[in-house]
Amino acid sequence: MDTYNRLPLKLTRGKGCWVWDDRGNRYLDAVAGIATCNIGHSDNALRRSLTNQLNKLQHVSNLYKIPEQEALAKWLVDHSCADKIFFCNSGAEANESAIKLARKYGHQRKGIDRPIILTAKASFHGRTLAAISATGQPRYHRGFEPTVEGFEFFAYNNWQNFESLLQKIEKDGPRIAAVLIEPLQGEGGVNPGQKDFFIRLRNQCFKHEILLILDEVQTGMGRCGCWWGYEKLGIEPDVFTIAKGLGGGHAIGALLVQNHANLFEPGDHASTFGGNPFACRAGLTVAEEIEKRHLLPQVSARGQQLREGLLALIGRFPKLLSEARGWGLIQGLVLQENTNITSQNISKDALNEKLLVVPAGPKVVRMVPPLIINRHEIRKLIKRLEATIDKQI
Ligand SMILES: *Cc1c(COP(=O)(O)O)cnc(C)c1O
Repeated sequence: MDTYNRLPLKLTRGKGCWVWDDRGNRYLDAVAGIATCNIGHSDNALRRSLTNQLNKLQHVSNLYKIPEQEALAKWLVDHSCADKIFFCNSGAEANESAIKLARKYGHQRKGIDRPIILTAKASFHGRTLAAISATGQPRYHRGFEPTVEGFEFFAYNNWQNFESLLQKIEKDGPRIAAVLIEPLQGEGGVNPGQKDFFIRLRNQCFKHEILLILDEVQTGMGRCGCWWGYEKLGIEPDVFTIAKGLGGGHAIGALLVQNHANLFEPGDHASTFGGNPFACRAGLTVAEEIEKRHLLPQVSARGQQLREGLLALIGRFPKLLSEARGWGLIQGLVLQENTNITSQNISKDALNEKLLVVPAGPKVVRMVPPLIINRHEIRKLIKRLEATIDKQI
């Protein structure tokens, strides 16, 4: 169906941070399947482990114990604040699970009839009906009303706005079950969360017994130079969701909870494919490879290099570019509001320079390359982006 505005490019092969089209042209990939191919394309370790897994067992039901799922769950528990995991297949599904969990928490723990979840304006939580309803951008709702009820929106990083919304809703008693929020807004324009906002938010959630749920679908699994975006904010969520980078390009998502939020019982939630041996093997291999190759400090260093390159571009094109922002290897180059150029133009024109970048809203060019990108490749990325912008004038 006509659900995508596709670029005129047919990719057929990849290796590391590079992809080739059907005519043999080579592109530097700063999209990485939108922040998913964390250890690059056609990685040897991933190929080997998935080939082994295909030769052994691909899929069984969650009617049975699945050792690969248990191993990945253990890895995640050992490397985060979470104690328990539910596996699914995508970011939207992980958020669906979190929304169901929040509602159950509201009913069961707080005795709320119609629990409310607070989410941020300019957020993005996925495309299922509950996930678009949680998404604080009207353009995702339009044409699909009625949206799922029980969501209220506050301005991201805006404490006053959050507080007044909370007071307004709770003036006749507790009705809020959870806050669902991204540590850094990805699709909404690569907008990092502010530490003081999130620390206050964390305290307020403790005080009012509101679950703090972080959507780490884009920020998780090392993208920010640490395993989880929340580490950048000096807080720990009660619940968080992950997907994109977890499978290194294979479909997997997860809901992660601390013990006190471990509320699902048999029959509450399920997924046929969720946590299958193949997907979990992918997740486990990606996690182990990021550790083995000590990629996290690399992500920070390469992110810093990219950021410096972007700042130099802003210095060179101050009429077109206004800001560079992000954490680690999720960086956004913000275009000046008062120009005609859009992030869509830049993404399209970058193809001529053999570079892949992706818009995050109309005015932000997003770069989310594989976490294995090296110094030399970052330099090329900046050069190619510079050539793209130079041709806009
Ligand atoms: C991509 C994304 C989603 C949706 O993930 P899908 O796998 O496309 O369903 C949800 N939340 C955030 C923050 C995302 O970046």
